[in-house]
Amino acid sequence: MAPSTAKAKLTVITGPSGVGKGSLVKQLLELHPEIWLSISATTRVPRSGEIEAEHYFFLSHDRFADLVQADGCLEWAEFAGNRYGTPRKPVQQQLSLGRPVLLEIELEGARQVRRSFPEAVQIFLAPPSFEELERRIRGRATETEEAIQRRLVRAKEELMAQKEFDAVVVNDDLQVAVQELESLMGLRS
Ligand code: ADP
Ligand code: 5GP
Repeated sequence: MAPSTAKAKLTVITGPSGVGKGSLVKQLLELHPEIWLSISATTRVPRSGEIEAEHYFFLSHDRFADLVQADGCLEWAEFAGNRYGTPRKPVQQQLSLGRPVLLEIELEGARQVRRSFPEAVQIFLAPPSFEELERRIRGRATETEEAIQRRLVRAKEELMAQKEFDAVVVNDDLQVAVQELESLMGLRS
């Protein structure tokens, strides 16, 4: 499917852990404050510096299960031993206000959104090489060795699925990747 050139309403960004999704999204939001970034719920423990309701809603396993049970997630998935999900209501609200909505989620979640929102633009962010991906995860120094290994195994699976996406952006030079993303989201003339 060809990527949409019209102003996209719902955009999904997926890519292996450490590829630079967070860095890219941060820059995109600085350039385009009109974009609304969904804040996910997760059972993962906060990293140093992460703030409740800004980076994630950090939930216990029980509270996460309650949210899913109440059909409160647009999608959710298990990733490297934790659960992550997109709260449904705020996304619906922002879409109904006509605001561009961005989801930064992993592969299984992107597949679920593809079924419920086939019109969403799905973008895969890829590293220049697997070696560089590993360097970035390690350089970030936020995970234990065990968590890094889990994320690298999962990264291989995610990289194999990149053809499912409407477009692939290689995050080599961050500024170039931001510009490519802006074009795919119809934010550049
Ligand atoms: P993700 O959100 O995909 O897990 P991050 O945004 O946390 O990834 O980036 C992982 C690490 O890679 C961070 O230390 C970040 O500064 C670095 N990084 C991101 N993009 C680039 C890039 N284009 N070139 C070099 N390093 C990068
Ligand atoms: P991290 O623990 O590094 O913040 O995130 C791990 C993975 O979970 C990343 O690939 C990230 O995109 C994904 N993720 C974050 N929020 C969600 C969500 O709401 N749903 C799904 N399916 N994945 C998410």
